[in-house]
Amino acid sequence: MCTVITHPAVPIALSVLLPQNTASSALLIAASVCSVIPDLDVIGFEFGIKYSDMLGHRGFTHSIFFAAALAALVSLTFFHNSHGSPIVIFLFLFLSTLSHPVLDALTNGGLGVGFFAPFNHKRYFFPYRPIKVSPIGVAGFFSRRGLEVMVSELKWVWLPSSIFFGTGQLFKRMRDLS
Ligand SMILES: [Zn+2]
Repeated sequence: MCTVITHPAVPIALSVLLPQNTASSALLIAASVCSVIPDLDVIGFEFGIKYSDMLGHRGFTHSIFFAAALAALVSLTFFHNSHGSPIVIFLFLFLSTLSHPVLDALTNGGLGVGFFAPFNHKRYFFPYRPIKVSPIGVAGFFSRRGLEVMVSELKWVWLPSSIFFGTGQLFKRMRDLS
């Protein structure tokens, strides 16, 4: 995984694409939560579920199916009465959740991601994996490796996300001025 503080970088960046009548802090918070929820699967370790199992870490909760199901659930539960297009809200939550396994598949450690669970148990990585994998558990953050992970995530996640967000804001300003 990337660290829990880094996954929300993607929803924050993507939020720049939301139409004005759809964007809200509640939606951004929901999307940020969705982007970290897949890692709740580490609870499975406590119950003897193996990393490589379908319900193991980076398995089912990191699948495209799970991202769609979670986005549908959150949209229908919390945003059914909100302004804006339900499809845009669903897509934003879906991509926010899916960004989690995408980032994980770019990390250099652990097992691959079960993108196609529960239909296919194979784990996948992208061919290029520049992000240093985060240690599982809190203790690992406060180590030299934890620092290296943060630097790696700043470079490969926060920097491109900031550029994306900044460019999007710039385009919006220019459009509003013209
Ligand atoms: Zn993960």
